[in-house]
Amino acid sequence: SDIRTIRELYKSSVLKSPETLRYKPNSDFLNRVSLFQGDITELQVDSIVNAANKSLLGGGGVDGAIHHAAGRGLLKECRTLNGCETGFSKITGAYNLPSKRIIHTVGPVYSNHSVDLKAKQLASCYQTSLDLTVQNSLRHVAFPSISTGIYGYPIEDATHIALDVVRKHFESETDSTFSVIFVVWSNKDKSVYEALIPEYFPPS
Ligand code: ADP
Repeated sequence: SDIRTIRELYKSSVLKSPETLRYKPNSDFLNRVSLFQGDITELQVDSIVNAANKSLLGGGGVDGAIHHAAGRGLLKECRTLNGCETGFSKITGAYNLPSKRIIHTVGPVYSNHSVDLKAKQLASCYQTSLDLTVQNSLRHVAFPSISTGIYGYPIEDATHIALDVVRKHFESETDSTFSVIFVVWSNKDKSVYEALIPEYFPPS
């Protein structure tokens, strides 16, 4: 699969220097954040994140793709978890997937009546997923664009939140081998990530 680090994306001029600096450059981070366009179920990484619903019993979108590819063993384990609240995450085995573990996170259903709450819940999805990777000694985590499909979260707003939580995690985490892969499905989502990554991970 074509996972490209942000260092490679700067070299090939896919990513451009930001106009204003939101965060200081840190060359260590450039090899530890990647962008991948394609099917998250194909990634051979320590953990992939599932954009699940509160039941944790499967659904449409990326959730359906993960359950389909992982097989019935995943559903069986998920039945023992008693669901999950919005903004929180639970971890399972990966069964027939090439990854080692699956982190199921429940993103908010978007509504423009409670934008601040939705933003906090989405940030918490990324944060609790990162916390689980640390607690389980996982070296990489691949994130789909949580809540931006069926749950309707605007892609630009959601991407700012994803990048901000991950950047802050890198600032505080001492494990220099840990890496994050952002997985996008559509060309539109890919271009949003390419436009916003430099604000959070500027070239050094
Ligand atoms: P949510 O219910 O949290 O909005 P969705 O699964 O509907 O979750 O969408 C989340 C994102 O995952 C969307 O950008 C969608 O295009 C993308 N997506 C769907 N299938 C896959 C897949 N197999 N691999 C990676 N991303 C996927």
